[in-house]
Amino acid sequence: MSIKPLIILPDPILRQVSKPVERVDAQLRKFAGDMLDTMYDAPGIGLAAIQVGEPLRMLVIDLAKEGEEPAPQVFINPEVLASSDERSVYEEGCLSIPDYYAEVERPASVRVKYLDRDGKQQEVAAEGLLATCLQHEIDHLNGVLFIDHISKLKRDMVMKKFKKLAKDKPPTRMVG
Ligand SMILES: [Zn+2]
Repeated sequence: MSIKPLIILPDPILRQVSKPVERVDAQLRKFAGDMLDTMYDAPGIGLAAIQVGEPLRMLVIDLAKEGEEPAPQVFINPEVLASSDERSVYEEGCLSIPDYYAEVERPASVRVKYLDRDGKQQEVAAEGLLATCLQHEIDHLNGVLFIDHISKLKRDMVMKKFKKLAKDKPPTRMVG
């Protein structure tokens, strides 16, 4: 188990479309554990593999509240089968876009099929926060970010801010 560095906006890696996982094996389960460690460390409630630089269709979620037992969930090759006409609004944030939050409207509930960490086919009817979180993370697998769902004006402001932050960061240099 280890904590992996997070990919931050405007890194173009975040725009890659992730590839399906071909085999759920011990190595993949170890990677899922690393993703959970990274998410807990951040801390966040959801993380897609691409956010640690792996273009694989998998994501982890834990919606347990502070003080509750951890409830890690691993979703491999998730696919939205149906989404409700009813919509809901949540204030969203993203570990790849630190310290920025915005209200996003999405379908209030979704039915998602996926493989669990044992490679078994599962289906979930998600609503509330889980529905929003699943849609946010599945978007990542398609190179879509939550800022794509807000106004262009707001998105341009965020992009400008993060491009500037990336430029102002001192270069990391190996001195040996
Ligand atoms: Zn995100």
